[in-house]
Amino acid sequence: MKVVDVITEVFHYKSRVVRDADGHGHPGPERDAAQTLLRIVTDEGIEGCCFGGPVDAIQRIARSALIGEALLPRAHLKRLNVWQRLRIGVLSDKALCAVDLALWDLAGHALNQPIHRLLGAYRDKVRAYASTMCGDELPGGLDTPEAYADFAEQCKERGYTAFKLHGWMPPIAWAPDARRDVAACRAVRQRVGDGMALMLDPFHYYSREEALYIGRELEKLDFAWMEEPMDEHSTASYVWLTEQLALPVCGPETAEGKLQTRAEWIVQKASDISRGGVWDVGGITPLMKIAHLCEAFGVSLEIHGNGVGNLHALCAMPIPGAYYERGLLHPFLDYDQPPPWLHEAVDPMDSEGWVHVSPRPGLGMNINFDYIRSHTQ
Ligand SMILES: [Mg+2]
Repeated sequence: MKVVDVITEVFHYKSRVVRDADGHGHPGPERDAAQTLLRIVTDEGIEGCCFGGPVDAIQRIARSALIGEALLPRAHLKRLNVWQRLRIGVLSDKALCAVDLALWDLAGHALNQPIHRLLGAYRDKVRAYASTMCGDELPGGLDTPEAYADFAEQCKERGYTAFKLHGWMPPIAWAPDARRDVAACRAVRQRVGDGMALMLDPFHYYSREEALYIGRELEKLDFAWMEEPMDEHSTASYVWLTEQLALPVCGPETAEGKLQTRAEWIVQKASDISRGGVWDVGGITPLMKIAHLCEAFGVSLEIHGNGVGNLHALCAMPIPGAYYERGLLHPFLDYDQPPPWLHEAVDPMDSEGWVHVSPRPGLGMNINFDYIRSHTQ
């Protein structure tokens, strides 16, 4: 089987999520938005698909690594990893992830198996946590500690057994505010009681002292973990923080370096729980290496971000992460409604908080190609 074409299609849809100046998503007025579909086409008519990823990098660089050669997908990915060294400004881990997911989707369709089964499935459902959008100033949204508590209660009623707050961050003029973050965590714990697991992902550039203050307060509230309260490029700051807290510190999430960075953090004891998602580390292939690395050290791995690639990885990890990150959620948005390019959601959750992976081949997405065709540029 040979790859004969790599096609990236850009199509339009209506979104109710707007980005603030720092890149965080919030509910807003309906607007035109674009989505990307990557298709890797073979001479046998079998295709692998993936949504998302940078079109330019895939067309200018990844395409030439894939077309015309006998299909040994990991060899192509190894080559792209090497090419990153001098092209990191263009060839990001997100570009590698899109290619990796599409190649796994292709393999699944060629072998008529879902990806988690190709990887050696351990489970076909995982617990989800409700992962909120960042705090905002929208009345009745996520504008006060009480508003977070209201939303946590709604999520509990929906079936979630765990809830993660993202705190208030710039460009809100008064943010960040460590004491207000703690107030929101306290309000949520008081509202939902002891039975719900709670986590915090606050502003990512707090000082050591602010991060330690928050961590000690979260210990009193019996939180499950805190993630990325400081710049992750300072491993020494995380060693300093982790040494002093009984609260599990979870990371690194956004630090570059794939499995090598995770290995360094484990060896240096910079966190208690490791972290990564397919879009952070370049796909399912490197994420599974991280899962096995964590297994060797007896370290838990919490998967960053939602999406079908992360869900398959969670179902194939020998040491599971405790949760699938479902979101980002907000009281004004209906996450359970699938996007218009899919006939059904990739991460349906039942009333007890379990997310079920699709038994369909490959990534298992039920794609609405008619919608895509009629909304393509
Ligand atoms: Mg995070």
